[in-house]
Amino acid sequence: MKLKEACFVKAARLKISGGHAGSEEWNVPMAEADGIAFQCPVCSDGHMLLVWFRGRVPDLYFPGWKSEGPKGWIPSGSSIDNVSLTPSVDCATNYPGCWHGHVTNGEYAP
Ligand SMILES: [Zn+2]
Repeated sequence: MKLKEACFVKAARLKISGGHAGSEEWNVPMAEADGIAFQCPVCSDGHMLLVWFRGRVPDLYFPGWKSEGPKGWIPSGSSIDNVSLTPSVDCATNYPGCWHGHVTNGEYAP
């Protein structure tokens, strides 16, 4: 499925408040974005995934990140239309039943 066809998909600039990372500004150009947000393709309750880019957000804002080393996703591509993310987006480890999959060339798949 095309990522851009999700109910909500936007590039975001970061705002940190109260110890949580959230969005300050939506629809910024990908080159200026600190991450992207999109509706979870699995959860039917409108669960929104905030996927922050490596090097743009302090490590402490990835409390559920399991692997060693730098935290955050590495984006490639110039826009929502062709973005790819490395590594996979794994929400299922912390939230059983939620999504674990890949975003590749603007599409997401299990
Ligand atoms: Zn979910």
